[in-house]
Amino acid sequence: MQISFYAKMSLEALEHWKQLERETNTNLYRQTGMIVIDKPPFKELEAMKANNKALGVECEILSPEMVQDRYPGLVKIPKNHKALLETNAGFLRADKALECLRMQIKKFGGQINDSEKVENILPGSVVTVRTEKGTYKTKSLIITPGPWICKLMKPLGLNLPYGGVAMGCSDVSLKQGSKRPGPHVQGSQVNFTFGLLGSTSASLVVKITLCYWTEKIPGQSKKYPTFCDFGIDKPDGFTEPVYVFGFPSIEYNGLRKISVHHGTGVDPDQRDSFIADETKDVQFLLNYMKRRFPEYGDNPDPAIIEKCMYSVASDAIWYNIAHFNTHSVL
Ligand SMILES: Cc1cc2nc3c(=O)[nH]c(=O)nc-3n(C[C@H](O)[C@H](O)[C@H](O)COP(=O)(O)OP(=O)(O)OC[C@H]3O[C@@H](n4cnc5c(N)ncnc54)[C@H](O)[C@@H]3O)c2cc1C
Repeated sequence: MQISFYAKMSLEALEHWKQLERETNTNLYRQTGMIVIDKPPFKELEAMKANNKALGVECEILSPEMVQDRYPGLVKIPKNHKALLETNAGFLRADKALECLRMQIKKFGGQINDSEKVENILPGSVVTVRTEKGTYKTKSLIITPGPWICKLMKPLGLNLPYGGVAMGCSDVSLKQGSKRPGPHVQGSQVNFTFGLLGSTSASLVVKITLCYWTEKIPGQSKKYPTFCDFGIDKPDGFTEPVYVFGFPSIEYNGLRKISVHHGTGVDPDQRDSFIADETKDVQFLLNYMKRRFPEYGDNPDPAIIEKCMYSVASDAIWYNIAHFNTHSVL
């Protein structure tokens, strides 16, 4: 069995976050554990179990009754489903993580130039970065513009519709990744390779609707694991499978985040425009809440609704783009 690159990368990333915690004396990672739910034939669950085993990571298969006994009210799991508990999973405190990274940059002599738009990147053995305020030269460059990556990369000859490097993952879990080797994409002037990661078709920036729900028993979810429910039949009108994820009360005191991991394509500079499909996603989530959280009643009503943008490839794998000729731009 080939271990997914993503599983290996998660473990490596976790070590780096722990190093940052030590160096800054800050608590960034909260190990909550994570429950993955799946339905027969348990494809996702088996893949995750195999990954965990190959990497020596602790996990446990739980029946719906066991989940109910250990975590009453976490989520109602149908009788023929199974759950996998991955104990070392958790989440990162994104705001603190960013603060610590900025602190370390300064500590090691780096300079942070906020509010300075990068307008152009000229690759080569020395990379030139042109911003609205000046020009910089460097031997190597790492870019992390999130959903704006395509706009930034276009002048270099890489034409993705909208997409990017999503490095802000706060739910660290050993998810199955693509086993395919990355295809080489020929640009008009330079060559790129999708380094470790591969996708045969375009990436996409999607706008996702996030819903936060008042805890029915105040404080109950605080010590609960996160969950990811793959045991959902593809809803009518959806072209690809969806899953629902849930977080204990973190961002807002007393509110749990339970949302559907599905969104509609959006231009990152036009993200506020209304997309009719958003209604479909919310309606799906409301139906899910009625089935899996009957305690919220027949008209479940989230306390807060927020929007966020995700950059995903068609196989839900994130990109890692390296400049092929010089590897000077990552
Ligand atoms: C309410 C909310 C809840 C979320 N919850 C979760 C969650 O639970 N788990 C999870 O994994 N993710 C979650 N996300 C998504 C997560 O925030 C993103 O995946 C993450 O922020 C992506 O990080 P990034 O550094 O790749 O991109 P970004 O955070 O988008 O950062 C990119 C930066 O690059 C800058 N930039 C772009 N173009 C240029 C340019 N030309 N010049 C200079 N700067 C430029 C942008 O201004 C931006 O500051 C959530 C998002 C929201 C809004």
